Amino acid sequence: MLCDICPRQCNIDRAKTKGFCGMSKTPVAARAFLHMWEEPCISGTRGSGTVFFSGCNLKCIYCQNYEISHKGRGRELTVRELADIFLTLRDRGAHNINLVTPTHFVPAIREALSIAKDTAAVGTVLPAMKTSDSAACSEVLDRRPLDIPVVYNTNAYDSVLQLHSLENMVDIYLPDLKYISSDLSKQYSGAPDYFEKASAAIMEMYRQKGAPEFDSGGMMQKGVIIRHLVLPGHTAETLKVLDWISANLSKDAYVSLMSQYTPCHLAREHSRIGRRITRHEYDRVVSRFMKLGLNGFVQERGSASEEFIPDFDETFLI
Ligand code: SF4
Repeated sequence: MLCDICPRQCNIDRAKTKGFCGMSKTPVAARAFLHMWEEPCISGTRGSGTVFFSGCNLKCIYCQNYEISHKGRGRELTVRELADIFLTLRDRGAHNINLVTPTHFVPAIREALSIAKDTAAVGTVLPAMKTSDSAACSEVLDRRPLDIPVVYNTNAYDSVLQLHSLENMVDIYLPDLKYISSDLSKQYSGAPDYFEKASAAIMEMYRQKGAPEFDSGGMMQKGVIIRHLVLPGHTAETLKVLDWISANLSKDAYVSLMSQYTPCHLAREHSRIGRRITRHEYDRVVSRFMKLGLNGFVQERGSASEEFIPDFDETFLI
């Protein structure tokens, strides 16, 4: 099968070669742990059960995870191991399973979620799983099924068709909306059609999940949170992104405005984005966020620090 699972449409056989994302079909991840620094309704008090996948279908020059997204650092996992990791994170108290940069591994993730969610729930091994990974299923059967929300944490450069296939598996979408401008998305992420694809993907996510739902402890159970990272020297772009959200999505759309930009990777020496954002820049975009009456989260400006970048040490337990 030729790979067309994301908007890059590489149309190559990932069993034999790698596409733009730099990954074959086998899932590769760099770490799984309880993440305490996501939005409060995602991390809660016990943490979000996060799996950082390696490779990426964007190549952002400022990526803080470039060791894994660009260089591909990580360890190959079978579908069975992935299902086990999900269940282990749940057993350790995770509020949810948080799939970071999952786009290029959607088929394997779907299969792993099927094992983790369905086998124990029905008390038998489903026929399709017997053929694909029967040894894995028998082990997973000893455990309670996955019974916490699944978060799809993406750069939003996703295909609508693939999102359809996740409708009954994913509970919360956590997409970025990085840019409106084609020039910027080409310059910084190598994707001139980013907004066209990402906006269509986000509309599909809203079609699936609608208004957010929370449990009695304030943890999100279903919904969409759009993240936007404010880039230095580009507050005008942030204002356009906020205006688009306000004009195109309902008022119960949740937005997470992020101030944590730290120049990483190729951005360190960049003439425009080789610095952190200023207080004046952030005040300007927060003011628009408030004026538009958007729902969601505004990160404190002091959050910009490389200390918040996880250590991708290929550990898969907590
Ligand atoms: S998932 Fe990877 S190989 Fe497939 S189309 Fe996207 S970038 Fe290309």
